[in-house]
Amino acid sequence: MNKKTERTIEALRENRFEALYFDTAEEAKEYLLKEVKTDQSVGFGGSVTLDEMGIYQALKERGNEVIWHWYIEEGSDRINMMNKAMFTDVYMSGINGLTEDGRIVNIDGTGNRLASMLFGHKRLFLVCGINKISRNVEESLIRIKNVACPLNTQRLNIPTPCSKADKCMNCTSERRICNATLIMEKQHGGIPTTVVLIGEKMGF
Ligand code: SF4
Repeated sequence: MNKKTERTIEALRENRFEALYFDTAEEAKEYLLKEVKTDQSVGFGGSVTLDEMGIYQALKERGNEVIWHWYIEEGSDRINMMNKAMFTDVYMSGINGLTEDGRIVNIDGTGNRLASMLFGHKRLFLVCGINKISRNVEESLIRIKNVACPLNTQRLNIPTPCSKADKCMNCTSERRICNATLIMEKQHGGIPTTVVLIGEKMGF
């Protein structure tokens, strides 16, 4: 583990989050599959990292009830899936940014992920590659808006200015994907939170 990652883990723990480090995504996946009980329902927030790990498929195959608006059930729709995911035992999401002083930064277009990070579940797992660590909140927000948002709008084919300019243009687009920001500074009273940090480049 490099010094920057070590500092981040230590700071997250000082902020009372549970913070764990795994060298590989495969090890992190094994841990998550062990922690989630087979009778627990699991909701997902949009996350390239979790999708790359195949954790949704692994949980589903072994019989967990899994709810993710990226995998819409027959007869349902995106919003209905997002609503259902808010009432699961466990919630899993990626992270947009982590800081070396132990803060967790997320930005949403809709707000479903942010709502689920604060209340309503028994346990929250936030999974993140070390490529998303920044020095502080300010640098994290700059990285998210100028790296993650353009790549996400390109991936989803959303015609915001950042998808063309490769940087934030502070737009007022109706399709804007960065409408709400949540900065988790300390473990809050809502849901016990575990940060699963992976020593690989995951998502963006
Ligand atoms: S404000 Fe607009 S241009 Fe900037 S990151 Fe958000 S969606 Fe993209």
